[in-house]
This record gives sequence, C-alpha cells and structure tokens, in this order.
Amino acid sequence: MARARDPIADLRRIAFLLERANEATYRVRAFRSAAKALAGMSAAELTERAGNGTLTELAGVGDVTARCVAESLAGEEPVYLRRLVATEGSDLDAEATALRAALRGDCHTHSDWSDGGSPIEEMALAAVELGHEYLVLTDHSPRLTVARGLTAERLRRQLDHVAQVNAALPEGFRILTGIEVDILADGSLDQDDDLLARLDVVVGSVHSGLKDERSKMTRRMLKAVANPHLDILGHVTGRMVSSRPAGVTGPGDRGHRARTRAESDFDADAVFAACAEHDTAVEINSRPERQDPPKRLIRRALEAGCRFAINTDAHAPGQLDWQRFGCERAALCGVPADRVVNTWSAEQLVAWTHDRP
Ligand SMILES: [Zn+2]
Ligand SMILES: [Zn+2]
Repeated sequence: MARARDPIADLRRIAFLLERANEATYRVRAFRSAAKALAGMSAAELTERAGNGTLTELAGVGDVTARCVAESLAGEEPVYLRRLVATEGSDLDAEATALRAALRGDCHTHSDWSDGGSPIEEMALAAVELGHEYLVLTDHSPRLTVARGLTAERLRRQLDHVAQVNAALPEGFRILTGIEVDILADGSLDQDDDLLARLDVVVGSVHSGLKDERSKMTRRMLKAVANPHLDILGHVTGRMVSSRPAGVTGPGDRGHRARTRAESDFDADAVFAACAEHDTAVEINSRPERQDPPKRLIRRALEAGCRFAINTDAHAPGQLDWQRFGCERAALCGVPADRVVNTWSAEQLVAWTHDRP
C-alpha cells in the first residue's frame, strides 16, 4: 500500500491554490474549515473515519473534502489538488520572473485581527512556504471601523502575540510588526505616535474622502508623506478596476464584485517628488481589482527617483502569491530590483525604516 500523505497539508494546499486563483471565498472556506476541523485528530482516528465514512459527520467536513482526505490517506495526490496544479498557468516573462525571485518578503498583509480571513499563524506559514524571509503584518487602524481597525490597545496586544508566534516559527523567517494606517482628512496618521515609532514598517493609505478635490487631496498626501513614521504610501490612487489579469477567473472574493472606483485626483508629480525627498516608498499594490498605481504613474514615480514596495495587500494566505501580478506591472514599467525595498533582507528593511529622514 502507498504511504499516506498528510491530508491536512493537502487541504491547506488546495485552499491556497484556490485563493491564489481568486476563487470565491465560500469554495476556499470549505477546505480551510475542513483542515481546521481535522487538525487535532490522530492519524488512527482519521483513517478509521475515512474507512467507515464518518468524516462528514464532523462539522466543517463535506463530501468533497472527505474524498480528498481519503485519497491522501491512501497515498494518492487528491484529484481535486491534481486538477488545480495542472491548470495553473505561469505566463510571467523573464523580467517579471526575475523581479519576483528577488523579492524576499511582503510589506502589506492583513490577518483576522482586522478584515483578513485567517489567523496570523496561517498567513506566516503560507509566507514560509512561498520562500519569503519575512511578512509585515499591517492590519488596519482604528478609524476604519468597517475593517475592525485596531485600537492602540489591541495593537499593543497584537505586538505581544506576534512576539509569541515568531518564537515558534522556523528559523530564518519572521513576522515584522506593522500597520496600514489611515491617512486622515488632514493628512495626519490614525495611530499614536509612540506606537508608530515602535512598529517595524508603517504603510499609510487613504481609505476615505477619495473624491476630495485635487488641491485638498494633494495637501493631505503631501503631509502624510512628510511624516517621518510613514514608510510606504499604500494603493496610491485608491482606484478599483473591474478587469482582471490573465489567469484570474472566478466570481471573486469579498470586496471584489465588479466594484469599480475612479482614481482619486491629486498632483502626482508633487506627491512623488515628496516621496523621493522623504525616502517614502511608493507601493505597487498587486491586488487584481486594484492594480494601483496604474502603469503611467509607476513610470512617473520611477522618473521622480522613488523607491517602491511590491506588496500583495493579502487578506488570505493564497493571496500572498499575488506578488507576481505587481511584478508584471513593475517589469513593464522598467522598475529595477534595486529600487524595490522588499528585495532587501528583514534587517536591511528595518534599518531603512528606522533611519529614514
Ligand atoms: Zn488599504
Ligand atoms: Zn490593506
């Protein structure tokens, strides 16, 4: 008889591939729930339940996931997983591939502490599997109540939790602390200064008043960029596009239902000049529905001398692999790897965020 595979690992792998392909949340959830339901079970009990057909009696386990478990235990790659692996395409050209290979971490990710779908541990494990050396955890700030933004107190608790999680993670990988802080209407940042100073990386984004008129939005962004705590300017224009890059199909996840939004209006040359002056990196947001900034603005930021961060803004583990979309767009605009801050090691990255003017 063939040697049993790890059924939990297979379920998690399927969930990852579905998320990466931007499939509907409910499809992904079936596999994540099953993995969670079975994680604590002994191999003997799993085998017994698979044998007598009682896996589906457990909450969170359905026919499809039970079949996957049975196949894994029989030592076969589950058919569902095999099909997913066979149909995923790789259409990156050489430059984009090289850029992707140069990335050593991700500076913009969310967990279930704010509006992400998975615990910090799950996000970290997926990042380890992708070969990342670090993951910056950037949950939302207090004013973004719809996304369960973290109060100062919850953020302090998260920092303690991250320290514990880090202690249990494989050597050579670590979660860096961070935040996606709201850039408020007056350009100030939505979190206490002492906390912002404590964090490894601060991403700042505009989430409200996206229709502010041009001079107001420009002032707002210039003030934020000049703030010494702000390291990376997130999804610069706030746009939402309905089109998706090749290879991304399916009805999409939360916040992705063909909702489009125009770019906010601001003086991009002034903002990028300020980013270059204050050494604030411009994010290339990889989310298929954002693709932000648009390529014409990436080129202008490049000409202005800005640094970049190619981030996923992942809200689920499989989305951590969306960096390839950002790399494609960066490569099309000629962004060289040495301008991208997440090609650095964690030590170099943190040295940069702490030493910035
Ligand atoms: Zn955001
Ligand atoms: Zn975000």
